[in-house]
Amino acid sequence: MIQLYIPLNFLGVLYREIKQSLADMEKLFSLLDQNKEIADKPAAPVLQLAGNASPEVEFKRVNFSYEEKRQILFDLDFTIAAGTTTAVVGHSGSGKSTLSRLLFRFYDIQSGSIHIGGQNIMDVTQHSLRQAIGIVPQDTVLFNDTIGYNIAYGKPGATKEEVIAVAKAAYIHDFIESLPDGYETMVGERGLKLSGGEKQRVAIARTLLKNPVVMIFDEATSALDSKSEQMIQAQLKQIAKSRTSLVIAHRLSTIVDAQQILVMDKGRIIERGTHTELMALAGAYAQMWERQQHSYDTASNAIEAES
Ligand code: ATP
Repeated sequence: MIQLYIPLNFLGVLYREIKQSLADMEKLFSLLDQNKEIADKPAAPVLQLAGNASPEVEFKRVNFSYEEKRQILFDLDFTIAAGTTTAVVGHSGSGKSTLSRLLFRFYDIQSGSIHIGGQNIMDVTQHSLRQAIGIVPQDTVLFNDTIGYNIAYGKPGATKEEVIAVAKAAYIHDFIESLPDGYETMVGERGLKLSGGEKQRVAIARTLLKNPVVMIFDEATSALDSKSEQMIQAQLKQIAKSRTSLVIAHRLSTIVDAQQILVMDKGRIIERGTHTELMALAGAYAQMWERQQHSYDTASNAIEAES
């Protein structure tokens, strides 16, 4: 009994930590296969998708709190049109990551509903829901295995050619080829340590291999140099191509092309529109933009002064 209890308890701790960080949720679900707190309805059907076509995603008057006394999201209402990108911006703690946790059905909401392709996510099996969604987390945990394995994990039985194709699309192929053992190079805690950006590119390649119809991209918060910044923009385009995408953005420059930008503040959407529309509004988004431009100018001036 004790022997059984310890690993389960360990998985519980692991589960809570991962749930919070959004990191590698898919990996965890394949271990536990289900979240005991969230149950499928009896005889729940699978999420119906029209082939590979990306579905519409809809949040309808969603209210949510993690704990009884503190509401986190208030009456959230928005639609991500099929195959388009919606970016969410806002101060730390405004509820951006919570949105992605709810779409993945890590938690059930108190009122309102969330739909994918017109189906309420609470009515379909969790397995089919999570099959449809790919996540590129801020912080990717790598397996202690080869870099090739870490990419191939996105699709059991993937061929070498498929792995190389997605690595190219995620701009990580050249880097891998430059390593002494190429795709056979060991990574993770006991192998080669990858930088945050490299790890994120591995996660992108893995997700491209999974080829989900809905994508969540949680942009890393850490500051990047302008080359990495351009790389991220190119990758975002690659991932989002014809997929319904939710991008949690910290750098506004990465989301100027998004079809819709939601500005969140204390759990509410306070502005929405395209970059051009929001700039014309001269409100919270425009202020954030000005501030970021200013800090970039200051940063690049400082770099120039140093060199
Ligand atoms: P950041 O930009 O810093 O990642 P965010 O906008 O993504 O922030 P969330 O992570 O969605 O913000 O958090 C929104 C609010 O919910 C915060 O006030 C946070 O303290 C609270 N919160 C997040 N996770 C939990 C939890 N598991 N239990 C209780 N409160 C939580």
